[in-house]
Amino acid sequence: KMNERIYNFNPGPAVLPEDVLKEVQSELLNFHGTGMSILEISHRAPAYDEVHQQAKADIKELMGLGDDYDIIFTAGGASQTFALIPLNFAAESRPGSYALSGSFSQKAYEEAVKLGVGTVAASTKEENYVRVPRQDELNIAPGAAYLHICLNNTIYGTEYHYTPQTNGVPLFADMSSDMLSRPWDFSSYDFIYAGVQKNLGPAGVVLNIAKKELLANTPAELPTMLRYSTFQKNDSLYNTPPVFAIYIVGKVARWIKERGGLAAMGEANAKKAALLYDAIDSSDGFYRGHADKGSRSRMNVTFRLPTEELEKAFVAEAKEHSLGGVKGHRSVGGMRASIYNAMPLAGVEALAAFMNEFRKKH
Ligand code: PLP
Repeated sequence: KMNERIYNFNPGPAVLPEDVLKEVQSELLNFHGTGMSILEISHRAPAYDEVHQQAKADIKELMGLGDDYDIIFTAGGASQTFALIPLNFAAESRPGSYALSGSFSQKAYEEAVKLGVGTVAASTKEENYVRVPRQDELNIAPGAAYLHICLNNTIYGTEYHYTPQTNGVPLFADMSSDMLSRPWDFSSYDFIYAGVQKNLGPAGVVLNIAKKELLANTPAELPTMLRYSTFQKNDSLYNTPPVFAIYIVGKVARWIKERGGLAAMGEANAKKAALLYDAIDSSDGFYRGHADKGSRSRMNVTFRLPTEELEKAFVAEAKEHSLGGVKGHRSVGGMRASIYNAMPLAGVEALAAFMNEFRKKH
């Protein structure tokens, strides 16, 4: 099986459609007749500019967003964005308000705390993050600069199934692990960001989509590269952007468009998730889902088995069936099957069948 690709259930760093990888491979040595690789041509050359503009246009079109939003590409991962957001938008008199629903929202909050501008709107930590906070639990700080949520909690396998009402407070969301996986009311959000390395491309770039006026009004005293207005003014080309990552994000956006856009992604992803949750729910308690039913993620399906021994056996036997990356994160334990856009239905069918078979065997 040396030459075969596996069904990749890893949560990242990147899970990409095979078609896209092949296309990248075919263009790698000579990009669009330039005689150079996309890695080698100038980021100011027309051939790159076309890639840059098309990626932005396709993403905006997929999300159904208009001219009141700008897209900027930053580096440093979603983790750096955790700090950039309070730096650019919060102040002691206007703190950021954070809904804590898992490890990443906690990390985002901690960055704001370091700057003295973080408050907690809600937390489900006491319940081991088995669900996301409910609307009626959100206690947004008066005069908050924003409410920050993490829409899909990659580690715990929970996801918001609603958009919080904020009473006029700008709504910010980390969508790293469910970006462009379903239709969503994106226009209710003021600032959306995603480390792209799950549904959208390789690690190395953060896709940010935000209200124009928000990006235009950031503190002038910030270092140039930490200030969002720098990216907006220069169309993310103040310095050399991560061109290869942006190029692949553009290809993935095109791939999504060609397959029917977010409606088609959402339908396919819901079907995939239902197969695995059915395998859990119909297992007479052999598999126990981590997430409360009302907060189940359609991207990361987390579950436990009766014993850790069985969990080890599950991972090993799955691998023999070319089902890779099903081991869960250490903070939850058990299994996690990540089923991003690029995971074909056949892969999920194979995993669901394996789950049933494994249960009967043990
Ligand atoms: N936010 C979410 C929801 C994530 O899943 C991850 C990574 O897995 C991060 C943030 C951190 O992203 P990065 O590695 O780009 O800093």
